[in-house]
Amino acid sequence: MTALPEYEVLAIQYATVQRRPAENFLIADLHEGSMPMSYCVWLIRGGGRTILVDTGFNAEAAVQRRRDFIRCPTEGLRDLGITPQDVDDIVITHLHYDHAGNAILFPKAQFHLQEKEMQAATGPDMRHKLCRHAYEVEDVVHMVRQNFRERVRFVNGDSAVAPGISLHLVGGHTRGLQIVRVHTARGWVVLASDAVHYYDNVVKAMPFPGVVDVPALIEAGERCLSLADSGDHVVPGHDPLVFDLFPAHPTVPGVVVLSAAPLRPSPLAEMAAPI
Ligand SMILES: [Zn+2]
Repeated sequence: MTALPEYEVLAIQYATVQRRPAENFLIADLHEGSMPMSYCVWLIRGGGRTILVDTGFNAEAAVQRRRDFIRCPTEGLRDLGITPQDVDDIVITHLHYDHAGNAILFPKAQFHLQEKEMQAATGPDMRHKLCRHAYEVEDVVHMVRQNFRERVRFVNGDSAVAPGISLHLVGGHTRGLQIVRVHTARGWVVLASDAVHYYDNVVKAMPFPGVVDVPALIEAGERCLSLADSGDHVVPGHDPLVFDLFPAHPTVPGVVVLSAAPLRPSPLAEMAAPI
């Protein structure tokens, strides 16, 4: 039996926005204050592969939705020595605008997407403004075009992308959200994307308000814990704390190394998955 590759996993921040705590929990304490959100894409490198998880949004979407844009995600990749042509595979965790914009910038990659996510994003749910507000129609249409070009690999549940990298349907936030489990030198890391926006969504057992199925979203957080080697191996999708906890990349600002141990225990360090 050959050993699994130990992948390097990086978070690349490309935007932020100021928010209040009440905007980040389904039922919030009444206290005021600031609880900013960070926007990232994630890079997995190793075993001769370059895999991107999500593609972020562009400057135009940032203006429309009043986000503070730092850089195009491709600029973060460029500073890491990667051109869009170098990206073989792109995991789209779900089709929301902050995860599936910019796909047009990657001419060669194959996209890995849950079948349920494509069905939801092209189906009757989108008649409702509340259901479609986090989707950009052009991102969805682009993915339909990529399917006609045979560049979409549909996943239905759990599936491997490469040895030591697997995808897992969790739902909850959208109908077809998937999380990514990656083998690293420190063990199994789980990129939770929007299954867990903030550490506190799990610590307080209080989900983020963007939700299609509340029990499924709570269970998505539990699934992250059960697939990771510890709570410290679960990486929330939008928590700026990730950029304080993990070691900074030695040369590229706004990039942290998730395949390295955190500098101090994360708020999930002591949390165990339910039996
Ligand atoms: Zn998101």
